[in-house]
Amino acid sequence: MTTPPVPLRRGVPKRRLKVIPEPAPNICSVFIQPPEKAKFPFITGQGKLDLLCGTCDSVLAKKVVEGQIRGIVFKCPDCGSYNDSG
Ligand SMILES: [Zn+2]
Repeated sequence: MTTPPVPLRRGVPKRRLKVIPEPAPNICSVFIQPPEKAKFPFITGQGKLDLLCGTCDSVLAKKVVEGQIRGIVFKCPDCGSYNDSG
């Protein structure tokens, strides 16, 4: 059995992350992008799930595998919200 190619962006599930207050230092990994890289996803993988900022819907991680990203906080480069990956 071969899996047919995934057609473009349609059908890619997206999940909004939970917005949290700024975490205390050293409690968890916080991903912050330098300004020149803003607007690019932090992570691009081979999965089927896009993770979005819970405030502004910016794509923070593309094509991740559900459950793969854990214990990471993404600071949204667009709006500055802290998003908990769960
Ligand atoms: Zn945002």
